[in-house]
Amino acid sequence: MSQPFDFFLSIFEHFGDPKKRVFLGYILLSILIAFIWLLVARKMSLRAAIKKVFDKKIFFSKSSRGDYSIFFLNRVFTLFISPLLLTQLVVATGLFHVLHRIDWPEFPAAASLPTLLIVVAFTVTIFVLDDLTKYIVHRWMHKWPLLWALHKTHHSATNLTPLTIYRTHPLEGIIFSLRSAFTQGVALSIFFYWFGDKVDLMTVLGVNVLVFTFNVAGSNLRHSHIGIRYWRWLEYVLISPAQHQLHHSVAVQHHDKNFGATLAVWDWLFGSLHHSVETDDLTLGLGQGEPDIDHSLYAMYLRPLVEIYRYLRRGARAIAFKIAIWFRPILSVEWLLHPSGNTKTKDQE
Ligand SMILES: [Zn+2]
Ligand SMILES: [Zn+2]
Repeated sequence: MSQPFDFFLSIFEHFGDPKKRVFLGYILLSILIAFIWLLVARKMSLRAAIKKVFDKKIFFSKSSRGDYSIFFLNRVFTLFISPLLLTQLVVATGLFHVLHRIDWPEFPAAASLPTLLIVVAFTVTIFVLDDLTKYIVHRWMHKWPLLWALHKTHHSATNLTPLTIYRTHPLEGIIFSLRSAFTQGVALSIFFYWFGDKVDLMTVLGVNVLVFTFNVAGSNLRHSHIGIRYWRWLEYVLISPAQHQLHHSVAVQHHDKNFGATLAVWDWLFGSLHHSVETDDLTLGLGQGEPDIDHSLYAMYLRPLVEIYRYLRRGARAIAFKIAIWFRPILSVEWLLHPSGNTKTKDQE
């Protein structure tokens, strides 16, 4: 096969990879779940359900076209910076070696525990730790202005499609892959320290069985226009598609709610949980005080960098000003306080 064709194929390889959320098998199951929800829970006719699921207005909207172009460019970008994946491996391995040298408290009866129990414990731990760190980093993305400048790219979607998951600034992608490396490094080193080569992951098609279950259960519907809501009690435990759609809402009462990826318990514990609402009534996007959304590649790629630069420049100026105030008594720094150069008072003139 020719090289350009290989390159083209590798851009779309996530659709054939069960480790990725957009694996075609998961997308087909999400469509099936959407139909069951609309026909059974919403009592729609089949015709109306088909119209709703394959709504042309959604899939050909400016926002969705923005998703498709950033998907394509982010994939090309990732292929060109594949050494970054090596960095991820280096971080995980380095962390593993550092933590492995630490004298952790011994795990009592580690040698006598059945292998199955260790494998189950490792599978659950890595899933829960991964979900917790996703929650923490996502929360930082909203709370820290520099990170929010990057995360706005994701939130600038005005409707959601399964490809909105790729609508992220590449720098956010790097932060999240380092988070993943950190999580794996920590979990692996502690488990190997305690249980040696009994440690293994329960997988289906090479994927952590819990991640696989989450994906089979319609994970793609989080980024869709199908607002499936769970029972109230279940929304304390698992984030429903409608809860994540609410996370994208411009309404002030929905700001900084539902940061969770899979588990809702983190939102519940740390006070950011919001139960789902009727999502057909939600307006999605960035909200007041933010720049107008135009879904252009400039807005998604470059504007965040410009914002970060301006923010850092403002910060640097404020720091320089403070330093000038502190040193004013001992240094002649009037020029910093009066950058125009006119430091004379009227009396002196
Ligand atoms: Zn967010
Ligand atoms: Zn989202």
